Amino acid sequence: MKILVINSGSSSIKYKLFDMKHRKELAFGVAERISEENSILNHNKISKNSEPITYRNNDVIPDHREGLNRIVKLLVHEKYGVIKNKAEIAAIGHRVVHGGEYYKYPTIINKSVINAIKETIPLAPLHNPPNLIGIEVAETIFPESVQVAVFDTAFHQTMPPKAFIYALPYELYKNEKVRRYGFHGTSHSYVLKQAGIYLKKPIDKLNLITIHLGNGASMAAIKKGRCIDTTMGMTPLDGLVMGTRSGDVDPALPFYLSDHLNMSLTEIDNLLNKKSGLKGICGTNDMREIIERVNAGDYLAKLALEIYTYRIKKYIGAFIAVLGSVDAIVFTAGIGENSPDTRRLSCQGLKQLGIEMDPKKNAEDSDGIDEINTPSSNVKILVIPTNEELHIAIETKKVINKSN
Ligand code: ADP
Repeated sequence: MKILVINSGSSSIKYKLFDMKHRKELAFGVAERISEENSILNHNKISKNSEPITYRNNDVIPDHREGLNRIVKLLVHEKYGVIKNKAEIAAIGHRVVHGGEYYKYPTIINKSVINAIKETIPLAPLHNPPNLIGIEVAETIFPESVQVAVFDTAFHQTMPPKAFIYALPYELYKNEKVRRYGFHGTSHSYVLKQAGIYLKKPIDKLNLITIHLGNGASMAAIKKGRCIDTTMGMTPLDGLVMGTRSGDVDPALPFYLSDHLNMSLTEIDNLLNKKSGLKGICGTNDMREIIERVNAGDYLAKLALEIYTYRIKKYIGAFIAVLGSVDAIVFTAGIGENSPDTRRLSCQGLKQLGIEMDPKKNAEDSDGIDEINTPSSNVKILVIPTNEELHIAIETKKVINKSN
């Protein structure tokens, strides 16, 4: 069975095609800067020796429909293609950012699912509309394929009310669904399953703290395989310091910025989401550059790294407290998988909590799962590469099998 995974953003479509027989990646790519002058289509066919054969084109992509049409042409292309006919694609798995309280699990897309995603737009105004465009376009281009939605929020729907309800007037939750939702669910859920396989422990017996550090960043407290708390909130702005997002700040900050600096709501939104985080402190959100600058003695880069890892450490402490006992801490995504300095500083001084990192193992680089704790550490520290697209493909297949 072949499954195409689509992540449709406001100006991009990312995709990966899998052969689910061996969970093998056949092709992947991205159509970027859709409806802009300098569009990019980057397509990669995975060759027999696992090396990608790349196709790149800069013709303007006017809209998502044309973007997906060009992707399909490449998937069936004589040289760059991996299938003969688009009808070979049994299903499309769509990443949908917000499923509100409607969806605890992935689901086959029908009219009522589309309506629920539409109703959730006020909670994710930047993400759900382009996700919907991706679904609508895919439905017309792949009329024979089953369309499945996999929600970023679904994994966190197991949180208890004490973790997801804010201390605001209760009506705001009841009437407006204002609450903590949490995001990056596909990644937290994927590394949970991988940790279960690595630790040879059933998932429903696993207590984990998963730490996803990409451009966006979030942590999840997982008890017996179920999420009981997470750092992101009603929106992805909450919690950890991120590439360009502030994470936790005093909720009164916007009033101050408005009163004293005369900033509009749009400017404050832009400040907190796009001009803060690592970039706000030291001017870049690229962790590689930050580490280089730290090593060269740059004060602001060092400060950014300290603030970033201090926040992670605080949440590790908080999540140990809510979990009671922890089998493993898992680092994942671009920074979590590739930055030993970030992992070291986040776990430094936590010996009393049973967390001891082996500096040598932490500094070693590998492509697979790495265990980087000392033999005497009570809590294991794992580095597990995430694969959100594969997770979406696996979930899509499960949903189809259940419905048959
Ligand atoms: P997203 O998918 O959220 O866009 P990624 O998971 O790709 O983000 O992570 C992006 C981050 O990973 C960037 O800050 C980048 O600097 C960081 N990163 C990637 N490789 C390395 C590396 N070798 N060392 C340190 N940071 C890295």
